[in-house]
Amino acid sequence: MRMTVLASGSKGNSAVVSSSGTRILVDAGLSCRELMRRMAMVGENPETLDAILITHEHADHVAGLPVLARKFGIPVYFTEATHRAWVRQVTPQKRTTYAQWLEQRKAEMALRDEELVRSYAANACGAPNEAPDEHFFVPSAESMSEGSSEADKASEEHNAVKLAAAAAEDLCDEADAPAVKKSVKDNPSYLPVVEYFRAGSHLAIGDIDILPFTIPHDAADPCGFVFEAEGIRLGFATDLGYVPQNVKMALKNCDALLLESNHDLEMLRDGPYPWSVKQRVLSRVGHLSNTATAEFLTRDYDGGAAYVILAHLSESNNLPEMARLAAEQAIGDRLSLLGNKILLAQQAEPMQPLCL
Ligand SMILES: [Zn+2]
Ligand SMILES: [Zn+2]
Repeated sequence: MRMTVLASGSKGNSAVVSSSGTRILVDAGLSCRELMRRMAMVGENPETLDAILITHEHADHVAGLPVLARKFGIPVYFTEATHRAWVRQVTPQKRTTYAQWLEQRKAEMALRDEELVRSYAANACGAPNEAPDEHFFVPSAESMSEGSSEADKASEEHNAVKLAAAAAEDLCDEADAPAVKKSVKDNPSYLPVVEYFRAGSHLAIGDIDILPFTIPHDAADPCGFVFEAEGIRLGFATDLGYVPQNVKMALKNCDALLLESNHDLEMLRDGPYPWSVKQRVLSRVGHLSNTATAEFLTRDYDGGAAYVILAHLSESNNLPEMARLAAEQAIGDRLSLLGNKILLAQQAEPMQPLCL
């Protein structure tokens, strides 16, 4: 089996998991063009992908999804709830044309960004050099109705604008396929093939067996995965607020483990995010801190993986060496030259393919 992380972090996530006969793209959170560029860098060919498997509907996991799937006719696997949530995100409101809706969203977001900058300035933390990188929390319609805050609304708008902009920009890539173009015009959520899976139920894509498992995160129906083929097990879990029992069970006996190590608690607490965003990142449906990941590695990890890949590191609230140190200390004397090699998945460039 082989795994190649193309990108990891709140600006986009994607990885290729393959056996000798099957290739799966896990999430497509960069633009189609960038995904293609990074795949070319690591010797992967998008035309040979058998499936795109989606963990959850946040923009950093689906930004390039529709264009990539349409361009190469790749089947997309979601849970039904995640698919529904994604369709809602990419579908314009009724009685508004797509172009009007896009303009309206952009205008709303420009306003929102100005307000955010003003609120940063007011908090005397200095002007941020970037927007909060955990702005991809998109509350479901249900959770929005339970007293949603301004930050929640901002997050949702960010997500919608990002997705719409990505789709609009990438439409030009599809100009040579008039039938697809017409389908997209009629229905922005059009995908050539959609397949559903359910957390807790195995599915097979080619010769890869996949066990999706529920993770606690602020999305409609977020999942992690265990991939198994050719006697190798690969665990995959990012975007989770804590590590519940079902995740601990799923991640046993893995030969490689890709695990979130999102933030350093102190950096997050002292950092530039608005209080409401900090609360959400820290919450039970937010992201795993270095400390929480270390705790899992100390208490629950069986020590059997050749590689432990730390992923979804925050660029604002973490340092790669802090994440690495916390994991190394947690693994302690189980670290060896042969196994438990700790690697860091990066945002800006793909990792070398891992062969298992
Ligand atoms: Zn994410
Ligand atoms: Zn997420």
